Amino acid sequence: MSLLVVGSVAFDAIESPYGKEERIIGGAATYFAVAASFFAHVNLVGIVGDDFSKSDEAIFRGRKIDTTGLERANGKCFFWAGRYLENLNERVTLTTELNVFADFNPRLPEKYKDSRYVFLANIAPKLQRRVLDQVKKRPKLVALDTMNYWIERTPDDLKETLKHVDVLVINDSETRQLSNEHNLLRAAKHIFKMGPSALVVKRGEYGAMLVDEDGVFCVPAVPLEEPHDPTGAGDAFAGGFMGYLAGEGRHNDAALRRAMVYGSVMGSFAVEEFGPRRLTRLKLKEIHARARHIQKLSQFTL
Ligand code: AMP
Repeated sequence: MSLLVVGSVAFDAIESPYGKEERIIGGAATYFAVAASFFAHVNLVGIVGDDFSKSDEAIFRGRKIDTTGLERANGKCFFWAGRYLENLNERVTLTTELNVFADFNPRLPEKYKDSRYVFLANIAPKLQRRVLDQVKKRPKLVALDTMNYWIERTPDDLKETLKHVDVLVINDSETRQLSNEHNLLRAAKHIFKMGPSALVVKRGEYGAMLVDEDGVFCVPAVPLEEPHDPTGAGDAFAGGFMGYLAGEGRHNDAALRRAMVYGSVMGSFAVEEFGPRRLTRLKLKEIHARARHIQKLSQFTL
């Protein structure tokens, strides 16, 4: 089943203890789409500037990614610069330039309007809602990601958009910030009152946790000896998670658990190299092998 995504398509400048990139393709929707396209057909909605060349666009080519909804405008792409601290778990945002996203008015291509799975990747909550409003039939599953930038600047828009969302997929500090609760289970209860019926908390090297009416499910992160750049790991996680569910066409408890595993798999590949490089070279059989590795990591007898 096809999976619609709206979010940033960007250029990033990244510094980590492992190196530096002055200008590399990034953006939440970019990482998401590449990761999800291993599992399902992806309909991409976003906007790029005239600095986004044909060779930049090649990242989407040869994959199950429809870019009809990727608009081109005069001006520059979304730009984000960040620096990771020694432990790679913490990062500082140095610059966020919305550029062409500032005046973006998304119009869904007709063929996208029947999408049954929707992921509202990180971008202005108002834009996320405008996209969702254009989907004809209530999708089977709507998930949303956001970050401190939008929680702080556009809290009312975010609260309005959350009313239409089934699964909130955010990291631990954003969960605490949004709910004003330090404890993640209490935070989940608070968030369920805002609209979503499930919460996926991404916890970096500590894995991820799903909380919903069936209870709690935790998946480990793959322990890596040489992580290089965590940028986009959360979006790649969401791509594996939603891509898997859209590919399955159902989201019962068993499917959700497997989706968490494929999310963790895609997140682990994302951090192995700078930007989305490792994701673009991935083979499906490496993905399945890593899912089996996670299965082994968390198996035990009592
Ligand atoms: P993540 O590491 O999962 O938080 O995602 C990093 C990606 O999100 C980068 O490639 C950035 O281009 C993009 N990004 C950073 N800040 C924002 C923002 N405020 N809105 C949308 N996308 C953003």
